[in-house]
Amino acid sequence: MSNRRDFIKKTTLGTLAVSSVFGLEAVAQNTENQKETLAVKKTKKPVVISTWNHGLPANAETWKELKAGKSALDAIEAGMKIPEADPKVRSVGYGGYPDREGKVTLDACIMDHNSNCGSVSFLQGIKHPLSVAKRVLENTPHVMLSGQGALQFALSEGFKEENLLTPESEKDWKKWLEESKYKPVINIENHDTISMLMIDEDGNLSGGCTTSGAAWKMHGRVGDSPIIGAGLFLDNEVGAAAATGLGEAVIRTAGSAMVVELMRQGKSPYEACKEITERIYNKHKNHKDMEYLQVGFIALNKNGEHAGYSLRSGFNYAICDDEKGNRMEDAKFKMNWDK
Ligand code: ASP
Repeated sequence: MSNRRDFIKKTTLGTLAVSSVFGLEAVAQNTENQKETLAVKKTKKPVVISTWNHGLPANAETWKELKAGKSALDAIEAGMKIPEADPKVRSVGYGGYPDREGKVTLDACIMDHNSNCGSVSFLQGIKHPLSVAKRVLENTPHVMLSGQGALQFALSEGFKEENLLTPESEKDWKKWLEESKYKPVINIENHDTISMLMIDEDGNLSGGCTTSGAAWKMHGRVGDSPIIGAGLFLDNEVGAAAATGLGEAVIRTAGSAMVVELMRQGKSPYEACKEITERIYNKHKNHKDMEYLQVGFIALNKNGEHAGYSLRSGFNYAICDDEKGNRMEDAKFKMNWDK
């Protein structure tokens, strides 16, 4: 029985022979078939990619769960719990830097291949906001719950309320209070939002994002991370993208949704991340945020190809696949920090 690859091969050879007789139309058809052959060959799955150094342990856990037969969303949740629970990761979950009032406020979202989404924003006192976002997806008719309502929902789902401000973060906050100057320090210590994108064994895309947001933000500030289309977006026909960096800039430009749209138009993950980063630069080069502006994107397409790109140097992401295991890669960038 001839399989799909044989069929494509035969079609390609057949078209080659016919093209000399029927000219350009057949040549064009042949190019399309070759493209399809390439696409079939290149598809790599599963692949998991995550932002920053804390993506490495998160990927490892997600990978383990995926290989044990867990669903994509369950595996993402398991991986994201690692940095959420780690007090040394100062920009996610427990131990995250507080806002200027000393409150740790959390944002998270999750999305599956059927475009189901769940999100929480401005959630306090719950260590695993991504798990709450997942319950929003699974158990409510809504996409997004916020603040007190999100907390109420989390408690009704059996989550435990706890103090997320560690003594270390409290100490840093008190030090910050001495000057009280708001200047986000994104990507100075590789400690930012974790966004994870996945293509599973079935070739389906999914993703998640969880953060305590910008340190010393105003009480009530919500960044890009829980906003579907800004901090995370995917279209199972095309690809997935996620952001890290100054959320305000990512929201202003619908960052992740735009990266996916460019991939739909035929751009590679690298070209798409780069073009949207350039767009953000062009829209912000005379903006007051430019002094400390950093944004970074990761993207993964339906063939399992991935990339990361940032405005300024220092962004990296973790990749896990069968071929090379779990490792870090430095993202390409537009400019250095001194510009
Ligand atoms: N994007 C996050 C926010 O603005 C922060 C980050 O990724 O560094 O809340």
